[in-house]
Amino acid sequence: MLKGKTAVVTGAAKGIGKAVAIAFAKEGCNIVLNYHSSVSDDTINEIEEYGTRCMPVQGDVADFGFAAQLVKDIKKEFGTLDILVNNAGITRDMLLMRMSEEQFDQVINTNLKGTFNMVRHASSLMLKQRSGTIINMASVVGVTGNIGQANYAASKAGIIGLTKSAAKELAQRGITCNAIAPGFVETDMTDVLAEETKQEMLKAIPLKRYGTVDDIASAAVFLAKNTYITGQVLNVDGGMVM
Ligand code: NAP
Repeated sequence: MLKGKTAVVTGAAKGIGKAVAIAFAKEGCNIVLNYHSSVSDDTINEIEEYGTRCMPVQGDVADFGFAAQLVKDIKKEFGTLDILVNNAGITRDMLLMRMSEEQFDQVINTNLKGTFNMVRHASSLMLKQRSGTIINMASVVGVTGNIGQANYAASKAGIIGLTKSAAKELAQRGITCNAIAPGFVETDMTDVLAEETKQEMLKAIPLKRYGTVDDIASAAVFLAKNTYITGQVLNVDGGMVM
């Protein structure tokens, strides 16, 4: 069903983004792999093992011009942009009282503005195509809030609002837009947390295990295959938020 489609995944050199890129390659999609600092040849080879193309593109999703150029290049190279996964994200955790303007701006610019930039340019092309699907990586924290993550939670709550608005605007042309809200997934992002914090998190997960990157990737494939789900936030969190 997804064979031959073009999927762009942002921040896909590692973690959840890499797993999402591999999962779509397994489905037969050509992959546009956006990375920020670097990507290994092994990752590109792993994707191409499935017999599809992988086009690595370095760039910062927070840059409006970069997003515009990326979509132009995809159109030129592949003809269509069928699946957009806005995965790139960062944390700059700090208690509200001590949070700097820079910490707030960095997280909002990468997570929320980066998602806007990509949705803005990709949707122009998808509207012309009259097809496409957008999946934005939110977080359960965007729904619940979290101590030390006012910037991150605000960015993820913003992504949920953006997702629902885009879903309403784009539905007339058959384009779907959904968000995934992962709970606690073992990646570099969560690796920096203290062991004590991790154990506390585990206690709050009814399924009694951390999420894997593949738990999130399979949810992204599910959403991309379904053409009648739009404007939704799919919690993939072991039951943390119900
Ligand atoms: P990760 O391992 O830290 O990976 C994040 C990726 O985003 C990195 O490859 C990073 O590249 C890239 N990135 C950062 N800034 C970027 C920018 N300006 N432009 C393009 N790419 C950029 O994190 P992860 O855990 O896989 O998280 C992936 C997504 O899931 C994020 O949106 C995160 O908020 C969300 N999420 C994660 C969890 C979790 O428990 N892990 C839970 C809820 C939501 P560089 O390293 O080169 O900068």
